[in-house]
Amino acid sequence: MNYSDSERLTTVLKKMGYKPGKDFSDADLIILNTCSVKQKADERIYGLGEIFIPLKLKNPKLKIGITGCMIRENTGIRGQSKEKILRQMSTIDFTFRIRDLMQLPDILRELHHVKGADEVKDMMNYFHIDPTITNIAQVFIPIMSGCNNFCAYCIVPYARGREESRSMKEILDEVEKVAKRGAKEVNLVGQNVNTYKPSDADKKSSETPFTQLLRKIDAVKGIDRVRFYTVHPKDMTDDVINLYGELRTMVPHIHIPVQAGSNSVLKRMNRLYKVEKFKELVAKMRKRIPHMSISTDIIVGFCSETEEEFMESLNLIKDEKIDLVYVSKYSERPGTLAQKEMKDDVPFKVKKDRFERITAVMKQVSHEYNQQFLGKKVQILVERVERGYASGKIPEYKMARFKSKDKKLIGQYVTIKVDKAMEWCLDGEVV
Ligand code: SAM
Ligand code: SF4
Repeated sequence: MNYSDSERLTTVLKKMGYKPGKDFSDADLIILNTCSVKQKADERIYGLGEIFIPLKLKNPKLKIGITGCMIRENTGIRGQSKEKILRQMSTIDFTFRIRDLMQLPDILRELHHVKGADEVKDMMNYFHIDPTITNIAQVFIPIMSGCNNFCAYCIVPYARGREESRSMKEILDEVEKVAKRGAKEVNLVGQNVNTYKPSDADKKSSETPFTQLLRKIDAVKGIDRVRFYTVHPKDMTDDVINLYGELRTMVPHIHIPVQAGSNSVLKRMNRLYKVEKFKELVAKMRKRIPHMSISTDIIVGFCSETEEEFMESLNLIKDEKIDLVYVSKYSERPGTLAQKEMKDDVPFKVKKDRFERITAVMKQVSHEYNQQFLGKKVQILVERVERGYASGKIPEYKMARFKSKDKKLIGQYVTIKVDKAMEWCLDGEVV
């Protein structure tokens, strides 16, 4: 989501005549697009306060702004905006909520940083801003923003507000546009893509709007792979599952965040499903695509998590053969239900130990999963070329690489024969 926000922010700045600088010391304008899902992300931003003092002394023209999830309340220059962060970071000149991105030109004008902003007047709404695609092999398209679920640990509904769906037409226009520019894969992003509810969905259809959207994207020439982040287990429907094996663009990988393998923890987290539901979804998907790669998110050390409860998460990963897990140590976030009503009482040492144990199991599962590709041909969509290797993902979301220094391959398909299958990567030679 933040990656995609930054691409829209770049467009606005470019239209106003700004050009990218090499680093902070080379800049007249710095905008920090922040994340606040975990405390560490907040701390990283506060840590920058010190670095900005000498930069401002050296360059009096330098203006610094903050946007993203840390900015919840309002948009404006210092003095107008009431964000707490302004009290802690004296070097910040302005803040804006990312959904107020269209107001950025006015703010900069007020700060006498630019003369005018006529070129950006036509941008009525955040979603209308054309993104500046940074990598044609990694295109992220927001389909909705905000969230209506209040998982006990999560700051997103407070930081990004309630769910707002983008129109299907607008999304399709963007998909078609990027396809014409050469994109082969699109990543649809939203906090809970299953509850996507645009005003222009076919209300008479028996299928959910998200399924309708996937069908429409499947018809776009040039797009071969569609990925989406993220589905919520409680809202995942059979009509989406039934698209696997039917639509050519549905890749054999899905990311379904389960968060915990224990029903008591899921209840405390206010996730509103039981672990049996997650297992049922995994079984249904593997029935349609037996080698389906499934990834998930797990939080370890959530309020009062016992060793037994943790073991249920660990065993879930092992038993359901989840080949990629984004593990997070629980981090208390201000204003959330967990912060107000529960205790962050699992010691950091225990969280760290659980983090390492889940990671070790995941490595094992992933290594085993990857063996199926040994000696086989796989199709890579090249994302980057560095240190003598070209690399990118295969449809199953595994990284694969081959020796090359040819940057022109970025965004292109290359087929390799796999001769080494490691935990995180497949190696091979071009065929
Ligand atoms: N909407 C997605 C879902 O329902 O699972 C998750 C989006 S959340 C922004 C991304 C991930 O960050 C979560 O899946 C969770 O594992 C992690 N996360 C969120 N809040 C957290 C917290 N307070 N401490 C640790 N990890 C957290
Ligand atoms: Fe956060 Fe839950 Fe919403 Fe996901 S569904 S963004 S975890 S509140």
